[in-house]
Amino acid sequence: MPQTFYIATLGCKLNYSESSNIARELQNSGFQTSTTPDYYILNTCTVTTTAEKKARSLIAKFHRKNPFAKIIVIGCFTARDRGVVENLPGVAKVFGSEEKMKIIQYLLDISKKNTIHDTLFTNHFFSTYSSHDRTRSFLKIQDGCDYHCSYCVVARARGSSRSDTIENVLENIKKIAALDCKEVILTGVNTGDFGRKNGETFYQLLSAIKKTKLVARVRISSIEPNLLTDDIIHLFANSDILMPHFHIPLQSGSDGVLAIMKRRYKTALFVEKVQQIKSLMPHACIAVDVISGFPSETEDSFEESFRFLEKLPISYLHVFTYSKRPNTPAAEMKPQVKDSVKKVRTKKLLLLSETKKTTFYQEYVNTQRAVLFEDDVKNGQIFGFTDNYIRVSAPYNEKLINQIAYVEITENNTYV
Ligand code: SF4
Repeated sequence: MPQTFYIATLGCKLNYSESSNIARELQNSGFQTSTTPDYYILNTCTVTTTAEKKARSLIAKFHRKNPFAKIIVIGCFTARDRGVVENLPGVAKVFGSEEKMKIIQYLLDISKKNTIHDTLFTNHFFSTYSSHDRTRSFLKIQDGCDYHCSYCVVARARGSSRSDTIENVLENIKKIAALDCKEVILTGVNTGDFGRKNGETFYQLLSAIKKTKLVARVRISSIEPNLLTDDIIHLFANSDILMPHFHIPLQSGSDGVLAIMKRRYKTALFVEKVQQIKSLMPHACIAVDVISGFPSETEDSFEESFRFLEKLPISYLHVFTYSKRPNTPAAEMKPQVKDSVKKVRTKKLLLLSETKKTTFYQEYVNTQRAVLFEDDVKNGQIFGFTDNYIRVSAPYNEKLINQIAYVEITENNTYV
Protein backbone atom coordinates (compact mmCIF):
# COMPACT_ATOMS: atom_id res chain seq x y z
CA MET A 1 0.00 0.00 0.00
CA PRO A 2 1.41 3.40 -0.91
CA GLN A 3 2.01 5.77 1.99
CA THR A 4 -0.16 8.88 1.96
CA PHE A 5 0.32 12.52 2.91
CA TYR A 6 -1.59 15.77 3.14
CA ILE A 7 0.25 19.07 2.99
CA ALA A 8 -1.06 22.39 4.33
CA THR A 9 0.73 25.70 3.92
CA LEU A 10 0.56 28.98 5.80
CA GLY A 11 2.28 32.27 5.04
CA CYS A 12 4.21 33.57 2.08
CA LYS A 13 4.63 32.54 -1.55
CA LEU A 14 8.03 31.11 -0.66
CA ASN A 15 6.30 28.57 1.58
CA TYR A 16 3.82 27.72 -1.20
CA SER A 17 6.65 27.17 -3.66
CA GLU A 18 8.48 24.91 -1.18
CA SER A 19 5.34 22.92 -0.31
CA SER A 20 4.64 22.37 -3.99
CA ASN A 21 8.16 20.99 -4.44
CA ILE A 22 7.83 18.68 -1.43
CA ALA A 23 4.49 17.33 -2.74
CA ARG A 24 5.94 16.82 -6.23
CA GLU A 25 9.00 14.96 -4.93
CA LEU A 26 6.93 12.76 -2.62
CA GLN A 27 4.54 11.89 -5.44
CA ASN A 28 7.49 11.11 -7.72
CA SER A 29 8.72 8.74 -4.98
CA GLY A 30 5.44 6.80 -4.82
CA PHE A 31 3.56 8.64 -2.06
CA GLN A 32 -0.08 9.57 -2.70
CA THR A 33 -2.13 12.48 -1.42
CA SER A 34 -5.08 11.85 0.92
CA THR A 35 -7.26 13.86 3.29
CA THR A 36 -6.95 11.07 5.89
CA PRO A 37 -3.24 10.49 5.42
CA ASP A 38 -0.43 8.63 7.18
CA TYR A 39 1.46 11.93 7.41
CA TYR A 40 0.19 15.47 7.77
CA ILE A 41 2.78 18.04 6.73
CA LEU A 42 2.30 21.62 7.92
CA ASN A 43 4.53 24.34 6.46
CA THR A 44 4.28 27.19 8.97
CA CYS A 45 4.78 30.93 9.19
CA THR A 46 5.73 33.17 12.10
CA VAL A 47 5.34 36.64 10.65
CA THR A 48 2.39 37.51 12.92
CA THR A 49 0.80 36.07 16.06
CA THR A 50 -2.23 35.17 13.94
CA ALA A 51 -0.07 32.95 11.69
CA GLU A 52 1.16 31.05 14.77
CA LYS A 53 -2.39 30.69 16.13
CA LYS A 54 -3.48 29.25 12.79
CA ALA A 55 -0.63 26.70 12.91
CA ARG A 56 -1.61 25.56 16.41
CA SER A 57 -5.25 25.25 15.44
CA LEU A 58 -4.43 23.23 12.29
CA ILE A 59 -2.22 20.86 14.29
CA ALA A 60 -5.07 20.32 16.79
CA LYS A 61 -7.53 19.79 13.90
CA PHE A 62 -5.30 17.19 12.20
CA HIS A 63 -4.80 15.35 15.50
CA ARG A 64 -8.56 15.31 16.20
CA LYS A 65 -9.37 14.13 12.67
CA ASN A 66 -6.83 11.34 12.52
CA PRO A 67 -5.10 10.64 15.86
CA PHE A 68 -3.00 7.85 14.32
CA ALA A 69 -1.44 10.06 11.67
CA LYS A 70 2.00 11.53 12.22
CA ILE A 71 2.11 15.31 12.04
CA ILE A 72 5.33 16.79 10.70
CA VAL A 73 5.72 20.51 11.20
CA ILE A 74 8.21 22.50 9.14
CA GLY A 75 9.09 26.15 8.55
CA CYS A 76 9.41 29.45 10.34
CA PHE A 77 7.25 28.80 13.43
CA THR A 78 9.33 25.72 14.27
CA ALA A 79 12.56 27.63 13.66
CA ARG A 80 11.47 30.24 16.18
CA ASP A 81 9.83 28.05 18.80
CA ARG A 82 10.95 24.49 18.19
CA GLY A 83 10.44 23.25 21.80
CA VAL A 84 6.84 24.47 21.92
CA VAL A 85 5.91 22.89 18.56
CA GLU A 86 7.60 19.56 19.37
CA ASN A 87 5.42 19.19 22.45
CA LEU A 88 2.07 19.77 20.75
CA PRO A 89 -0.13 16.61 20.71
CA GLY A 90 0.28 14.55 17.54
CA VAL A 91 3.51 16.23 16.39
CA ALA A 92 5.98 13.50 15.41
CA LYS A 93 8.78 15.52 13.88
CA VAL A 94 9.84 19.11 13.41
CA PHE A 95 12.14 20.66 10.81
CA GLY A 96 13.19 24.33 10.93
CA SER A 97 13.31 26.54 7.85
CA GLU A 98 16.87 25.83 6.85
CA GLU A 99 16.40 22.07 7.11
CA LYS A 100 12.83 21.75 5.84
CA MET A 101 13.72 19.84 2.66
CA LYS A 102 15.07 17.05 4.91
CA ILE A 103 11.46 16.01 5.21
CA ILE A 104 11.58 14.22 1.84
CA GLN A 105 14.54 12.02 2.83
CA TYR A 106 12.99 11.52 6.28
CA LEU A 107 9.70 10.23 4.86
CA LEU A 108 11.49 8.04 2.32
CA ASP A 109 13.62 6.61 5.13
CA ILE A 110 10.76 5.83 7.48
CA SER A 111 8.53 4.49 4.72
CA LYS A 112 11.31 2.11 3.66
CA LYS A 113 12.35 1.56 7.28
CA ASN A 114 15.86 2.60 6.33
CA THR A 115 18.26 4.22 8.72
CA ILE A 116 17.32 7.83 9.02
CA HIS A 117 19.83 10.11 7.34
CA ASP A 118 20.74 13.10 9.40
CA THR A 119 22.41 15.51 7.07
CA LEU A 120 22.10 19.06 8.28
CA PHE A 121 21.14 21.57 5.65
CA THR A 122 22.16 24.61 7.64
CA ASN A 123 22.28 27.65 5.43
CA HIS A 124 22.04 25.54 2.34
CA PHE A 125 20.05 27.01 -0.54
CA PHE A 126 17.51 24.68 -2.05
CA SER A 127 15.57 25.85 -5.05
CA THR A 128 11.85 25.18 -5.29
CA TYR A 129 9.01 26.10 -7.62
CA SER A 130 5.27 25.63 -7.41
CA SER A 131 3.53 23.56 -10.07
CA HIS A 132 -0.05 23.12 -8.85
CA ASP A 133 -1.24 26.10 -10.90
CA ARG A 134 -0.92 25.72 -14.68
CA THR A 135 -0.80 29.44 -15.31
CA ARG A 136 1.88 30.72 -12.95
CA SER A 137 4.67 29.38 -10.84
CA PHE A 138 6.39 30.83 -7.77
CA LEU A 139 10.09 30.19 -8.22
CA LYS A 140 12.34 30.54 -5.20
CA ILE A 141 15.59 32.24 -6.18
CA GLN A 142 16.76 33.56 -2.79
CA ASP A 143 16.22 32.79 0.89
CA GLY A 144 17.04 34.40 4.26
CA CYS A 145 18.03 37.98 5.00
CA ASP A 146 21.05 39.82 6.41
CA TYR A 147 19.12 42.99 7.22
CA HIS A 148 18.02 43.49 10.79
CA CYS A 149 14.77 45.43 10.66
CA SER A 150 13.82 45.94 14.28
CA TYR A 151 10.36 44.31 14.01
CA CYS A 152 11.27 41.35 11.83
CA VAL A 153 11.23 37.76 12.96
CA VAL A 154 11.35 36.30 9.45
CA ALA A 155 15.04 36.99 8.96
CA ARG A 156 15.83 35.15 12.21
CA ALA A 157 13.56 32.23 11.32
CA ARG A 158 14.89 31.79 7.78
CA GLY A 159 18.59 32.38 8.44
CA SER A 160 21.14 34.43 6.55
CA SER A 161 20.82 35.53 2.94
CA ARG A 162 21.68 32.95 0.29
CA SER A 163 20.64 32.45 -3.29
CA ASP A 164 20.56 30.25 -6.32
CA THR A 165 22.85 30.76 -9.30
CA ILE A 166 21.75 32.39 -12.55
CA GLU A 167 22.40 29.13 -14.38
CA ASN A 168 20.17 27.14 -12.07
CA VAL A 169 17.36 29.73 -12.10
CA LEU A 170 17.32 29.56 -15.92
CA GLU A 171 17.23 25.75 -15.74
CA ASN A 172 14.24 25.93 -13.39
CA ILE A 173 12.46 28.40 -15.65
CA LYS A 174 12.97 25.94 -18.54
CA LYS A 175 11.33 23.19 -16.42
CA ILE A 176 8.43 25.49 -15.55
CA ALA A 177 7.99 26.46 -19.23
CA ALA A 178 7.94 22.75 -20.12
CA LEU A 179 4.82 22.47 -17.89
CA ASP A 180 3.23 25.05 -20.23
CA CYS A 181 3.20 27.61 -17.43
CA LYS A 182 3.14 31.14 -18.82
CA GLU A 183 4.16 33.23 -15.82
CA VAL A 184 7.00 32.97 -13.30
CA ILE A 185 7.11 34.98 -10.08
CA LEU A 186 10.65 35.33 -8.75
CA THR A 187 10.37 34.86 -5.02
CA GLY A 188 12.66 35.34 -2.02
CA VAL A 189 12.80 36.77 1.49
CA ASN A 190 14.97 39.63 0.23
CA THR A 191 14.79 38.98 -3.52
CA GLY A 192 16.89 41.96 -4.58
CA ASP A 193 19.82 40.57 -2.57
CA PHE A 194 20.05 37.73 -5.09
CA GLY A 195 23.57 36.64 -5.99
CA ARG A 196 25.50 38.94 -3.62
CA LYS A 197 27.43 36.05 -2.09
CA ASN A 198 27.93 34.20 -5.40
CA GLY A 199 29.50 37.12 -7.29
CA GLU A 200 26.30 37.64 -9.30
CA THR A 201 23.59 40.31 -9.19
CA PHE A 202 19.82 40.47 -9.46
CA TYR A 203 20.23 42.77 -12.47
CA GLN A 204 22.34 40.12 -14.23
CA LEU A 205 19.70 37.50 -13.50
CA LEU A 206 16.91 39.70 -14.87
CA SER A 207 18.99 40.52 -17.97
CA ALA A 208 19.55 36.79 -18.61
CA ILE A 209 15.82 36.11 -18.17
CA LYS A 210 14.96 38.96 -20.53
CA LYS A 211 17.42 37.66 -23.13
CA THR A 212 16.42 33.98 -23.00
CA LYS A 213 12.63 34.65 -23.10
CA LEU A 214 11.83 31.21 -21.72
CA VAL A 215 8.35 32.19 -20.51
CA ALA A 216 5.86 34.85 -21.59
CA ARG A 217 5.74 36.75 -18.30
CA VAL A 218 8.01 37.30 -15.29
CA ARG A 219 7.23 39.26 -12.12
CA ILE A 220 9.21 39.98 -8.93
CA SER A 221 7.36 39.04 -5.74
CA SER A 222 8.78 42.11 -3.95
CA ILE A 223 11.96 44.16 -3.82
CA GLU A 224 13.46 46.42 -1.14
CA PRO A 225 13.55 50.06 -2.40
CA ASN A 226 17.30 50.38 -1.80
CA LEU A 227 17.90 47.35 -4.05
CA LEU A 228 15.62 48.50 -6.86
CA THR A 229 18.39 50.03 -8.95
CA ASP A 230 18.02 52.39 -11.91
CA ASP A 231 19.36 49.59 -14.13
CA ILE A 232 16.62 47.23 -13.00
CA ILE A 233 13.91 49.84 -13.60
CA HIS A 234 15.26 50.52 -17.11
CA LEU A 235 15.38 46.80 -17.84
CA PHE A 236 11.68 46.48 -16.97
CA ALA A 237 10.84 49.52 -19.06
CA ASN A 238 12.48 47.94 -22.10
CA SER A 239 11.20 44.42 -21.85
CA ASP A 240 8.03 42.71 -22.98
CA ILE A 241 8.42 39.78 -20.59
CA LEU A 242 9.31 41.64 -17.35
CA MET A 243 5.87 42.83 -16.26
CA PRO A 244 5.32 46.49 -15.22
CA HIS A 245 4.31 45.53 -11.70
CA PHE A 246 6.36 46.37 -8.59
CA HIS A 247 5.76 45.42 -4.99
CA ILE A 248 7.94 47.64 -2.82
CA PRO A 249 7.94 47.55 1.00
CA LEU A 250 7.90 51.08 2.44
CA GLN A 251 6.58 50.31 5.98
CA SER A 252 6.30 53.97 7.01
CA GLY A 253 6.17 57.35 5.31
CA SER A 254 7.92 58.99 8.27
CA ASP A 255 11.73 59.14 8.24
CA GLY A 256 11.79 59.09 12.05
CA VAL A 257 9.85 55.81 12.17
CA LEU A 258 11.90 54.32 9.31
CA ALA A 259 15.07 54.97 11.33
CA ILE A 260 13.64 53.22 14.40
CA MET A 261 12.55 50.33 12.18
CA LYS A 262 16.19 50.16 10.97
CA ARG A 263 15.13 50.31 7.34
CA ARG A 264 17.92 51.10 4.88
CA TYR A 265 16.43 54.12 3.08
CA LYS A 266 14.61 57.35 3.67
CA THR A 267 11.33 58.51 2.16
CA ALA A 268 13.18 60.66 -0.41
CA LEU A 269 14.71 57.55 -1.99
CA PHE A 270 11.30 55.90 -2.13
CA VAL A 271 9.81 58.92 -3.93
CA GLU A 272 12.70 58.85 -6.40
CA LYS A 273 12.10 55.16 -7.22
CA VAL A 274 8.35 55.58 -7.66
CA GLN A 275 8.82 58.65 -9.87
CA GLN A 276 11.39 56.87 -12.01
CA ILE A 277 9.09 53.88 -12.52
CA LYS A 278 6.15 56.11 -13.39
CA SER A 279 8.13 58.30 -15.79
CA LEU A 280 9.39 55.27 -17.75
CA MET A 281 6.26 53.10 -17.32
CA PRO A 282 3.24 55.33 -16.62
CA HIS A 283 1.01 52.26 -16.69
CA ALA A 284 3.04 50.34 -14.04
CA CYS A 285 1.25 48.96 -11.01
CA ILE A 286 3.05 49.80 -7.75
CA ALA A 287 1.98 48.03 -4.56
CA VAL A 288 3.41 49.26 -1.27
CA ASP A 289 3.69 47.53 2.12
CA VAL A 290 2.98 49.65 5.17
CA ILE A 291 2.88 48.83 8.90
CA SER A 292 0.37 50.65 11.09
CA GLY A 293 0.90 51.24 14.79
CA PHE A 294 4.64 50.56 14.96
CA PRO A 295 6.00 51.39 18.46
CA SER A 296 6.84 55.10 18.66
CA GLU A 297 4.47 55.96 15.80
CA THR A 298 2.80 59.07 17.23
CA GLU A 299 -0.35 60.72 15.85
CA ASP A 300 1.93 63.20 14.08
CA SER A 301 4.20 60.57 12.53
CA PHE A 302 1.18 58.53 11.42
CA GLU A 303 -0.34 61.64 9.79
CA GLU A 304 3.01 62.40 8.14
CA SER A 305 3.12 58.84 6.79
CA PHE A 306 -0.50 58.97 5.63
CA ARG A 307 0.00 62.24 3.77
CA PHE A 308 3.16 60.86 2.16
CA LEU A 309 1.27 57.80 0.87
CA GLU A 310 -1.69 59.91 -0.23
CA LYS A 311 0.53 62.00 -2.52
CA LEU A 312 2.51 59.10 -4.03
CA PRO A 313 1.32 57.84 -7.45
CA ILE A 314 1.05 54.26 -6.24
CA SER A 315 -1.67 51.72 -7.05
CA TYR A 316 -2.57 50.13 -3.70
CA LEU A 317 -1.27 49.23 -0.24
CA HIS A 318 -0.66 46.02 1.68
CA VAL A 319 -1.47 47.15 5.22
CA PHE A 320 -0.10 45.22 8.20
CA THR A 321 -1.11 46.05 11.74
CA TYR A 322 2.01 45.87 13.92
CA SER A 323 2.08 42.89 16.28
CA LYS A 324 4.86 42.23 18.81
CA ARG A 325 7.17 39.42 17.74
CA PRO A 326 9.20 37.82 20.54
CA ASN A 327 12.96 38.44 20.62
CA THR A 328 12.81 41.44 18.33
CA PRO A 329 14.03 44.90 19.44
CA ALA A 330 10.66 46.46 18.51
CA ALA A 331 8.82 44.21 20.99
CA GLU A 332 10.74 45.89 23.86
CA MET A 333 10.31 49.45 22.58
CA LYS A 334 8.31 51.97 24.55
CA PRO A 335 5.72 53.31 24.10
CA GLN A 336 3.80 50.62 22.23
CA VAL A 337 0.72 51.89 20.37
CA LYS A 338 -2.65 50.92 21.89
CA ASP A 339 -4.62 48.26 19.98
CA SER A 340 -7.61 50.60 19.60
CA VAL A 341 -5.37 53.24 17.99
CA LYS A 342 -3.75 50.66 15.69
CA LYS A 343 -7.20 49.59 14.55
CA VAL A 344 -8.20 53.13 13.59
CA ARG A 345 -4.93 53.69 11.69
CA THR A 346 -5.21 50.37 9.85
CA LYS A 347 -8.76 51.19 8.78
CA LYS A 348 -7.72 54.60 7.50
CA LEU A 349 -4.89 53.06 5.47
CA LEU A 350 -7.17 50.35 4.06
CA LEU A 351 -9.61 53.01 2.88
CA LEU A 352 -6.77 54.91 1.25
CA SER A 353 -5.66 51.73 -0.48
CA GLU A 354 -9.15 51.12 -1.84
CA THR A 355 -9.36 54.65 -3.20
CA LYS A 356 -5.96 54.35 -4.85
CA LYS A 357 -6.81 51.01 -6.42
CA THR A 358 -10.12 52.28 -7.80
CA THR A 359 -8.38 55.34 -9.25
CA PHE A 360 -5.67 53.16 -10.78
CA TYR A 361 -8.21 50.80 -12.36
CA GLN A 362 -10.32 53.75 -13.64
CA GLU A 363 -7.36 55.02 -15.66
CA TYR A 364 -7.60 51.93 -17.87
CA VAL A 365 -11.33 51.85 -18.53
CA ASN A 366 -11.95 51.86 -22.31
CA THR A 367 -8.41 50.67 -23.05
CA GLN A 368 -7.28 47.22 -24.12
CA ARG A 369 -4.69 45.25 -22.15
CA ALA A 370 -3.16 41.79 -22.40
CA VAL A 371 -4.67 39.40 -19.86
CA LEU A 372 -3.32 35.99 -18.86
CA PHE A 373 -6.45 33.95 -18.09
CA GLU A 374 -6.34 31.47 -15.23
CA ASP A 375 -8.34 28.34 -14.55
CA ASP A 376 -10.60 30.42 -12.31
CA VAL A 377 -14.25 30.32 -13.33
CA LYS A 378 -17.23 31.76 -11.43
CA ASN A 379 -20.77 32.59 -12.58
CA GLY A 380 -19.93 32.03 -16.23
CA GLN A 381 -16.91 34.34 -16.07
CA ILE A 382 -13.21 33.55 -16.39
CA PHE A 383 -10.57 35.65 -14.58
CA GLY A 384 -7.02 36.75 -15.15
CA PHE A 385 -4.52 39.57 -14.65
CA THR A 386 -3.35 42.23 -17.06
CA ASP A 387 0.38 42.90 -17.50
CA ASN A 388 0.01 45.71 -14.92
CA TYR A 389 -1.88 43.49 -12.46
CA ILE A 390 -5.49 44.54 -12.90
CA ARG A 391 -7.87 41.65 -12.21
CA VAL A 392 -10.20 41.33 -15.18
CA SER A 393 -13.01 38.95 -16.15
CA ALA A 394 -14.43 37.84 -19.50
CA PRO A 395 -17.29 35.52 -20.50
CA TYR A 396 -16.14 31.93 -19.98
CA ASN A 397 -14.47 30.31 -22.93
CA GLU A 398 -12.44 27.17 -22.30
CA LYS A 399 -9.96 28.15 -25.00
CA LEU A 400 -8.92 31.21 -22.96
CA ILE A 401 -7.52 29.15 -20.05
CA ASN A 402 -3.76 29.72 -19.74
CA GLN A 403 -3.78 32.02 -22.78
CA ILE A 404 -2.88 35.68 -23.13
CA ALA A 405 -5.62 37.68 -24.86
CA TYR A 406 -6.37 41.39 -25.29
CA VAL A 407 -9.42 42.54 -23.34
CA GLU A 408 -11.22 45.86 -23.31
CA ILE A 409 -11.37 47.09 -19.71
CA THR A 410 -14.76 48.36 -18.59
CA GLU A 411 -16.34 49.61 -15.35
CA ASN A 412 -17.84 46.16 -14.91
CA ASN A 413 -15.08 43.67 -15.61
CA THR A 414 -12.45 44.73 -13.05
CA TYR A 415 -12.26 43.68 -9.39
CA VAL A 416 -10.78 45.95 -6.75
S1 SF4 B 1 14.42 43.25 4.79
FE1 SF4 B 1 13.88 43.58 6.92
S2 SF4 B 1 11.69 43.02 7.01
FE2 SF4 B 1 12.49 42.10 5.12
S3 SF4 B 1 13.11 40.01 5.73
FE3 SF4 B 1 14.95 41.32 5.90
S4 SF4 B 1 14.98 41.96 8.06
FE4 SF4 B 1 12.89 41.19 7.61
